[in-house]
Amino acid sequence: MGFAFHRPESLDAAIGIACEHGETARFLAGGTDLIVQINRRRIAPGHLISLAGLGLESIDETDREVVLGAMATHDAVVTHPGFGKQLVALAEASAVIGGRQVRNIATVGGNIVNASPAADLVPVLMALDATVELRGRDGTCSMPLDRFLVERGRTERRPDEILTAVRFDKPPVRSATAFLKAGRRKAMEISVVCVAAHLVPGRKARIAIGAAAARTLRVPQAEALVEANGRAAFAEAGRLAARQVTPIDDVRASARYRRLLVATLVERALAACADRVEAGAA
Ligand SMILES: Cc1cc2nc3c(=O)[nH]c(=O)nc-3n(C[C@H](O)[C@H](O)[C@H](O)COP(=O)(O)OP(=O)(O)OC[C@H]3O[C@@H](n4cnc5c(N)ncnc54)[C@H](O)[C@@H]3O)c2cc1C
Repeated sequence: MGFAFHRPESLDAAIGIACEHGETARFLAGGTDLIVQINRRRIAPGHLISLAGLGLESIDETDREVVLGAMATHDAVVTHPGFGKQLVALAEASAVIGGRQVRNIATVGGNIVNASPAADLVPVLMALDATVELRGRDGTCSMPLDRFLVERGRTERRPDEILTAVRFDKPPVRSATAFLKAGRRKAMEISVVCVAAHLVPGRKARIAIGAAAARTLRVPQAEALVEANGRAAFAEAGRLAARQVTPIDDVRASARYRRLLVATLVERALAACADRVEAGAA
């Protein structure tokens, strides 16, 4: 079955087309998830609505916050000059998404809305307490990314809503992030487990885990342990996180192996953050 392709000239026009066709329409960003699903006959949308050229590509920074346009590509995240130092985990995650061709067209918004538990950029954004912005027929609204994601392939987004941007506060100078991914090979590989950590020593710890449950999830008990005890609690936080995830057995790894990976990667990601903070202070 074929589909009609729409190239609207404004966000409102795109929303209008989505309202007209309801569940049979899909927004098209880079297409690296959507077109694969259509080719595999998992979905058969009647209408594809392109989001290209609607002003959603930019990455903007103010003194206080960072705003990633939904159509910013992973390559744009990797090469963005502001994503060294405290925000380096964004570049670390986007750099291992697919190969170069994929990163050139695949977008931040697609990685979020696709709602794969193995999405690599999502744990980093969650560790940064990111908020998503949605625009639909009733106007705009925003909500924490942690609330937006419901389960594998499902979000709080209504069919007429476009994810326009994802935003988060700039972390303080004395802080760090880290992203670690385990796969069966180093490139072009879906995560067997991935972990993002964000550490503001003495104030805040965030740990977000991918590919170990029906959605990317945070582990608040492990975070609280690290906030209270610092580096001394990293290994225990890993073990605690491993007990909180609910991984599956599949062709890529057993659930038991995934739990072991969670314990190890959480400890290592936290240690990487602590080392980076110390190196920054030196
Ligand atoms: C060979 C290959 C390797 C890959 N490797 C990885 C990997 O290592 N790690 C990883 O995380 N992912 C990987 N992916 C998956 C994919 O590239 C990413 O998830 C990517 O970020 C999806 O973005 P996209 O722009 O292509 O989304 P699309 O395919 O265009 O869209 C995905 C879904 O989101 C919806 N959507 C997209 N943007 C919006 C928006 N702004 N508002 C509302 N709805 C929207 C679409 O309707 C669709 O349902 C890989 C894909 C391929 C083909």
